[in-house]
Amino acid sequence: MILIFSAPSGSGKSTLVQYLLDTRQDIELSISATTRAPRGQEQDGREYYFITPERFEQLIKEDAFVEWQQVYKGTYYGTLRSEIERIENAGHHVVFDIDVKGGINVKRMFGDRALAIFISPPSIEALRERLTKRGTDSPEKIEERLAKAEIEMADAPLFDTILVNDDLATTKKELDKELAKFLG
Ligand code: ADP
Ligand code: 5GP
Repeated sequence: MILIFSAPSGSGKSTLVQYLLDTRQDIELSISATTRAPRGQEQDGREYYFITPERFEQLIKEDAFVEWQQVYKGTYYGTLRSEIERIENAGHHVVFDIDVKGGINVKRMFGDRALAIFISPPSIEALRERLTKRGTDSPEKIEERLAKAEIEMADAPLFDTILVNDDLATTKKELDKELAKFLG
C-alpha cells in the first residue's frame, strides 16, 4: 500500500510523518532525490539523496523517476522508481512525503492502493508563526512558502482525507485511526 502525505510547507507534515515512522514498523519513507542543499543535520541517503542539477536532469532522461517536480524555483525533487522497489522488496508500505502536485499525481497513478492525506494548517497566520518559529528559512523564503500555501490549499479536496493540524496530539490520534482503517 501507498501512503501519501502532502501539505503546505509548515503545516506539520514532517512532524506527523516522523511520528508514524517512529510508531509503526510496517511502513517506510520513500527517500526523494533533490537538488537543494542539506539543511541542519540532514544526511545524504537519510532525508534525501542530495544530487546535482546535472545528475537530476540525467535521471529524468533515463526515466528513473516515478514523478518529479520543480517544487520551488530552480529546486527539483523527485521519487526514484528504485526507491519504491527497495521498500516493497522489504515488505513495507511506502510513505510519500511530497508536495501537493506530486501527491495528486501519485494518487492518480496508484488509485485504490493509495491513501492520499492532506495536512492542513488551521490558518495561514498559524502557518507563518510555525515557519518563523522553526527558524530554518529566511523571511523571503517564508513569504514564498506562504504564497504557495494559499494556492495549494485549493487542491485539498482532491485528497482522500483532509486533516487539520491544530492540536498536535489530536491530529496524531486522527492519523492513527485513518491508518488503522486503511491498512487494517
Ligand atoms: P512541514 O513538514 O509541513 O513543513 P513541520 O513538521 O516542520 O512542517 O512543522 C513546522 C513547525 O511547526 C515545526 O517547528 C513543528 O514543530 C511545528 N508544529 C507541528 N505541528 C504543530 C501543531 N499542531 N501546533 C503547533 N506547532 C506545530
Ligand atoms: P523541503 O525542502 O522542505 O524538504 O521540501 C519541500 C517540499 O518538497 C515538501 O512539500 C516536500 O514534501 C516536497 N517533496 C519532497 N520530495 C518530493 C518528491 O519526490 N516529489 C515531489 N513532488 N515533492 C517532494
